[in-house]
Amino acid sequence: KDTTARTGTPPEDPALRDRIIADVTALRDSFDAGTTRDVAARLAQLEALRRGLRREEPRLARALAEDLGKSRTESALTEIGVVIQEVAHVSTHLRRWLRPERLSLGAMLAPASGELRREPLGTTLIIAPWNYPVNLTLGPLVAAIAGGNTAVVKPSEVAPATSAALTHLLRTHLDPGWVRVVEGAVEETTILLEQRFDLIFYTGNGAVGRIVARAAAEHLTPTVLELGGKSPVFVDEGTDLSVAARRIVWGKFTNAGQTCIAPDYVMATPRTLEQLRPHLRTAVRALYSGRPGRSLDYGRMVNHRHFDRVLALVDDAKTIIGGTAEADREARYLPPTIMAGVDWDDPVMQEEIFGPVLPLLAVSGPEEAIARIRGGDAPLTAYVFSPRREVEERFATETSSGSLALGFTLAHVGTPGMPFGGVGESGMGAYHGRAGLEVFTHAKPVVRKPLRPDTLRLVYPPYTGIKRRV
Ligand code: NAD
Repeated sequence: KDTTARTGTPPEDPALRDRIIADVTALRDSFDAGTTRDVAARLAQLEALRRGLRREEPRLARALAEDLGKSRTESALTEIGVVIQEVAHVSTHLRRWLRPERLSLGAMLAPASGELRREPLGTTLIIAPWNYPVNLTLGPLVAAIAGGNTAVVKPSEVAPATSAALTHLLRTHLDPGWVRVVEGAVEETTILLEQRFDLIFYTGNGAVGRIVARAAAEHLTPTVLELGGKSPVFVDEGTDLSVAARRIVWGKFTNAGQTCIAPDYVMATPRTLEQLRPHLRTAVRALYSGRPGRSLDYGRMVNHRHFDRVLALVDDAKTIIGGTAEADREARYLPPTIMAGVDWDDPVMQEEIFGPVLPLLAVSGPEEAIARIRGGDAPLTAYVFSPRREVEERFATETSSGSLALGFTLAHVGTPGMPFGGVGESGMGAYHGRAGLEVFTHAKPVVRKPLRPDTLRLVYPPYTGIKRRV
């Protein structure tokens, strides 16, 4: 029977399942054979990845331009460069990070000695999103390799050109005993999720995050979930608004707003908002010119579905910059758009925007801004611009978020060695640098005690005499 006509989804290709199972089995066999334990071999794979990135940079940059309209500079900066930098950082420190840590065991167990070793987890699965498709696919892979694991990599089908370029990169430059790529969408991912892995590292939205976590529970597989949410900005009175506006505009409109830690919306008192508006206008012009559609540095929506979704959030009656009239569906171009006088129950405030639309919302001051953040899901990042240390400190202690950036946006994720991850609805687990190694390994205490003297005699039954009184 033709199920396509009835359900809209084609019937599963049995060969697909076989191919996926063959890939997972090959990686598991390779791991079991000890291929990935040797640290020199891990460093060699990382070096192969670095070399491959350099060699394939033009191909990757072309794909990123095709999928997301990313400029060559933005691709180098936020995609390819960060991964090369991550490889360099991890490679420099890996041997030191892997050195067993001496454990202090206390008097109870004496005489004894112990150390904490980082052991690889096994065969891992990395499921990546489309918005920084190189960075968010290969960043976790660096950590997986550093940890001595094998990995199945599933790039996002939503950025198809980059998915193909990544597949070419990994198949050409990395050892298939370490890394295999499975391209595809829901069907492929569903089959993958039925397999047993030793860690699943997922980046994307929370709805699919839940599907991943449910599937992982079946095999008791640990998961790292790098999710999103509405990252708020608070601008306090007395802030240097010209610099703050530039930093907000840059953070919001980079990659046409399709950044998991992009400032989602801005809160300030009505007076500060009034003063901020001209600075925002100036900043948009300064960064993307009066005609952002012509700027080589301004990106495009990834596809028409996302274009339509974000366009529907724009209320032209509230638009002070940009708006739907300037949008071009064919070109997937949405101009930098800023909306003022936005209410908390407007459509734009009901979901993560994930596009170039910035709502401005009036609050009475820091107290209300803090209450608003506390009243919603814990964001991936919170941003505060304030000249007052005590205000910054209040946000640091009274709100919860994956990270908190004071006085700037976005740039902290590029910092090598800083753990990056969410909390609550914005995710669980962190990576980058040492945090990545930690999440892709198990910290195993290895403890040794000589057989003589047999001090454990003190805890053996029968519990009579002096032992009874312990
Ligand atoms: P996406 O649509 O590419 O989905 C992510 C992955 O999930 C893809 O590989 C996709 O094939 C897979 N997938 C989709 N539907 C599935 C299903 N039903 N079953 C199994 N797998 C499925 O990306 P997205 O979710 O649209 O990405 C945007 C979201 O990701 C935003 O919420 C953003 O904030 C978040 N994000 C978070 C981070 C982070 O580091 N925390 C980074 C980037 C994006």
